[in-house]
Amino acid sequence: MKTVWEKYNAKAMKDVMAVSEDYKNFLNAAKTEREAVDETIRLARKEGFKEFKEVRKVKAGDKIYFNNRGKSIALFVIGKKPMEDGLNILGAHIDSPRIDLKQNPLYEDNGLVLMDTHYYGGIKKYQWVALPLAMHGVVCKKDGKTIKVAIGEDEKDPVVEISDLLIHLSRDQMAKTGAKVVEGEDLNALVGSIPVKEKDEKEEPVKKNILKILKEEYDIEEEDFISAELELVPAGKARDLGLDRSLVMAYGHDDRICAYTSLRAILESKEPERTSACILTDKEEIGSMGATGAQSAFFENCVAELLAKTDSFDGLKLRHCLERSCMLSSDVSAGFDPNYPSVNEPKNAAYLGKGISFNKFTGSGGKGGSSDATPEYIAKIRRILDKNKIVYQFSELGRVDQGGGGTIAYILANKNMDVIDAGIAVQNMHAPYEVASKGDIYEAYQAYKIFLKEMA
Ligand code: MN
Ligand code: MN
Repeated sequence: MKTVWEKYNAKAMKDVMAVSEDYKNFLNAAKTEREAVDETIRLARKEGFKEFKEVRKVKAGDKIYFNNRGKSIALFVIGKKPMEDGLNILGAHIDSPRIDLKQNPLYEDNGLVLMDTHYYGGIKKYQWVALPLAMHGVVCKKDGKTIKVAIGEDEKDPVVEISDLLIHLSRDQMAKTGAKVVEGEDLNALVGSIPVKEKDEKEEPVKKNILKILKEEYDIEEEDFISAELELVPAGKARDLGLDRSLVMAYGHDDRICAYTSLRAILESKEPERTSACILTDKEEIGSMGATGAQSAFFENCVAELLAKTDSFDGLKLRHCLERSCMLSSDVSAGFDPNYPSVNEPKNAAYLGKGISFNKFTGSGGKGGSSDATPEYIAKIRRILDKNKIVYQFSELGRVDQGGGGTIAYILANKNMDVIDAGIAVQNMHAPYEVASKGDIYEAYQAYKIFLKEMA
């Protein structure tokens, strides 16, 4: 089969398009990791999932989730077999590259008020200028109140912007290397220009006016930025791309595209043999560290909690459960781009429209930093995919020694379970808008469902 599109009849095409409509809605609601957790909970509760603390005893068929600080989440559908026999786990990350506000962001310069930022994740900084940006996040007040912020998505909302230099005066800038064309400390977002009306306000009158607006409209004071988590992301909605509407262009495919398809698969997991799990994690773009990253004890703790409510708790059962588990660690891979063919080795590149994409290993150089799936495990995966006519491809991220990248795969593999990287090919990964194929989204979603049901 050349592409996914040859597989679909008219009815299947409707399904493919419908899944991507739902995915676009998810993306529009989930532009940060926190919003992704909120939206996941909303969708999970609709399907009968309960938070762990609402559950007294854990039994087969139960649907349970754990919310970690509103920034990462683990969902489980308890299987008929004992959990000690292992889980079928889907994993993806819900953080995406973006521009975070600094803790002391606000300043006035020649009648303009700006907010200083610190970018998050690997970005080509020059791609993030001269674009409408929305501000999402939370401001936590000393009194314990949390203010949720989402400004710039409604068409009537204002947006903010990081400026770029006009071409007419860019002789020096254009001679710089790409990494220096726009530098990190110059990523300052323009947020206002009207001075406050009071006559005696001579010092920073425009900043005072912005502070007044923040206080009146959001109950935010300048010091509150210290305990805020505010993220600038491209404003606007996910869109169909292509005259045939075969692709989706959106902010945050990496990696909400795998998060959404994995989530949908577990929401549809009904009375599985082996317990289904789905972990949607934070901080992947900066190394998966911290309480909400994949390296956290969170997932293991969730499994221990569940085991304790099924049988008498016993540390060895947790060890057995983890080492007998199988995982698809799903993240985007680099889709072959006809504009830049030279970075790929064509036999082992991932192509848009050729189905879910597996990577035996990731890493860089001589596979450095990768967990490298075993061929025994890959053979099992091939068996269930072929049986269910899933369209899939095996690829590497670029030519040998061209670069590389890592995922959360090795972190779970370090717990002594079988893990392979799976996911969806995208173009212009980490740009403000990324591109993916609706056919690949559909195949990934189907593959995840089958993995949860049939992997043994
Ligand atoms: Mn990723
Ligand atoms: Mn990434």
